[in-house]
Amino acid sequence: MDLPKHAYFRGKIVPYSEARVGVATHALNYGTAVFGGLRGYWNEERGKLYLFRPYDHYRRLLHSARMMCMDIGRSEEDLIQITIDLLRVEGYQTDVYVRPLIYKAEEGIGVRLHGIKDDLTIFAVPFGSYVKNDTNAHVTISSWRRVDDNVIPARGKVSGAYANSALIKTDAVRAGFDEALVLDQNGHISEGSAMNVFMVRDGVLITPPVTDNILEGITRRSVIELARRELGLEVVERSIDRTEVFICDELFMTGTAAQIVAVTRVDHRPVGDGVMGPITTRLRELFGEVVRARNPKYADWNVEV
Ligand code: PMP
Repeated sequence: MDLPKHAYFRGKIVPYSEARVGVATHALNYGTAVFGGLRGYWNEERGKLYLFRPYDHYRRLLHSARMMCMDIGRSEEDLIQITIDLLRVEGYQTDVYVRPLIYKAEEGIGVRLHGIKDDLTIFAVPFGSYVKNDTNAHVTISSWRRVDDNVIPARGKVSGAYANSALIKTDAVRAGFDEALVLDQNGHISEGSAMNVFMVRDGVLITPPVTDNILEGITRRSVIELARRELGLEVVERSIDRTEVFICDELFMTGTAAQIVAVTRVDHRPVGDGVMGPITTRLRELFGEVVRARNPKYADWNVEV
């Protein structure tokens, strides 16, 4: 990864080399941080960078913070402005990934959430594709279970919970797969290591509900809307059983980093015809136009830097 030149740290934009915390920092020891991940897309024709749905991303970040008893006294609008300021200083003319992090910033021993000062940091890096085989991914069903909402808030992006995602991803990749599908404690498919999941069965687009221990994905929300409005598809949010993905017609995963990844094999079984299907193909095209601010209908999802 290319390192950023700057970061927002302790209330101002500083050279990246100055954005440092001590080893006793609470968040580093106990995973007591929440983070976001949003993309900026470079629009070549206009020579402009556009953030994709930053308000929704920052709203989720502040919700994650609230679930973890954190308060940085900033609104979504404040966070968008800081991000724009940072990206202007960085001067990127390429696609970027923005990583805001709210963390328990005090140094010392003691597991708890209350009475510890919170802080905010943001950095951004140039960023291309995340999953290499994004038109023909081969996934496995992970032997790990997804963190349950009664263990760590599943609908938030809590740093400590990403130990679960990391175990899922590493075991999948070491076993030769691109990604994994993860079951929740009830044995339903919740999502991937850092992506939501959708399947097509008999022309209906189906995705697990927000009550199945998923992260409430912004890409998921966007895809649901595009599928309904642009493709006229029926979209159903319901639990998905393990064996349904063996017999569905199309399967894909969504996320800010991953964007839309077509899954064409699950544990060595072909999905549908074993190639990326028409609905996945169409959604990828649509999404690609929308994020790059090339579709005026969805211009309110694009915030100019
Ligand atoms: N699930 C998890 C666990 C994730 O980390 C992510 C990435 N943020 C997603 C789903 C997809 O969410 P989004 O579309 O908002 O990036």
